[in-house]
Amino acid sequence: MRPFTYERATDPGAAATAVLDGAGTMFLAGGTNLVDLMKLGVVEPSTLVDITRLPYDRIEHRADGGVLIGAMVRNSDLSGDRGIRERFPALSQAVLAGASGQLRSMATTGGNLLQRTRCPYFQDVTKPCNKREPGTGCSAIGGDHRDLGVIGTSVACVATNPSDMAVAMAALDAVVHIRLAGGDERAVPLSRFYLLPGDTPDRETVLAPGDLITGIELPPPPDGAAMLYRKVRDRWSYAFAVVSVAAVVATEADGSLREIRLALGGVAPVPWRAREAEGMLTGHRPTRTLLLAAADAEFVVARPLPRNEFKIGLAGDLIAASVRDLTEPAGSTGNGFTREERG
Ligand SMILES: Cc1cc2nc3c(=O)[nH]c(=O)nc-3n(C[C@H](O)[C@H](O)[C@H](O)COP(=O)(O)OP(=O)(O)OC[C@H]3O[C@@H](n4cnc5c(N)ncnc54)[C@H](O)[C@@H]3O)c2cc1C
Repeated sequence: MRPFTYERATDPGAAATAVLDGAGTMFLAGGTNLVDLMKLGVVEPSTLVDITRLPYDRIEHRADGGVLIGAMVRNSDLSGDRGIRERFPALSQAVLAGASGQLRSMATTGGNLLQRTRCPYFQDVTKPCNKREPGTGCSAIGGDHRDLGVIGTSVACVATNPSDMAVAMAALDAVVHIRLAGGDERAVPLSRFYLLPGDTPDRETVLAPGDLITGIELPPPPDGAAMLYRKVRDRWSYAFAVVSVAAVVATEADGSLREIRLALGGVAPVPWRAREAEGMLTGHRPTRTLLLAAADAEFVVARPLPRNEFKIGLAGDLIAASVRDLTEPAGSTGNGFTREERG
């Protein structure tokens, strides 16, 4: 590992200046991703500026039911916060589905959003990777891509975004608050925060050098909404999502969907908001047949690779099971699912 200098930032302006002025200077939050990547030689900063003492470590619940989560709030504090558990359970579930207790005690909200892909070729500096080293090629397309993306990918990159938390936040219409390097503030909807790879997979977000995430705002969920996060993984802990879904639904008295929001993890380079599926489902009773048709419509533009095509069917099943669980009171056979459809 390359030697580096450690500094602790006392105010956001000084932190931004340090990154802008120093070539190879990076922000350090919990370090649970950045330090691993340094050990692998994937990133080699000369200086780390520790931002964890900056004053963004609070969760502020608002009278309207929304919340502002400071970027330095630790994942364990976020998942355990009573207001989050009660009003945004999908977020609490998503955070708890990631990493381990020890890691969540270190990892921060901002760092979680900015963790890098787990594509094995991105992490292996001996292999070509357009994301790590633009122009060298994508080893995954003809290689081990079983865990990689099926939608929103490009011929340059098929890596997935690994964050569980970001998927829940996508379904919750999160807005990312950013302190620009020059000192101005900017609020960017999460749906526009991440960039699709296209032919520049090394650019993953709208952030420029020195820009600091200060917080994430969640607006109040829809009236009467139920929500969940569900993750399929290869083993129960320490495993990233093969496919995951965050679902937020609000129903009318007749069982039709007044509002539905679906976000998918493990399938795309960004937390994937399934807007095509949402459009097909809104206003209708969510039968399994309709849910699977909506998932199919979402994936019409997918470009799966030979060993990850299974993710499309898995995502459909996950959407159907999640919406069923949110709309069907326990023990009932109601809401339009026939016994056969309930599977
Ligand atoms: C064994 C293991 C298993 C894991 N399993 C999962 C899992 O199942 N699901 C999951 O979602 N995650 C998982 N993780 C990833 C973990 O959630 C992330 O490592 C963690 O959330 C990153 O947060 P951090 O504060 O440690 O970020 P850091 O590692 O400190 O930083 C990450 C990046 O963000 C930048 N940064 C950090 N904060 C800011 C900010 N406020 N503004 C601008 N830039 C910033 C840093 O410069 C760096 O580039 C796992 C990690 C490990 C090691």
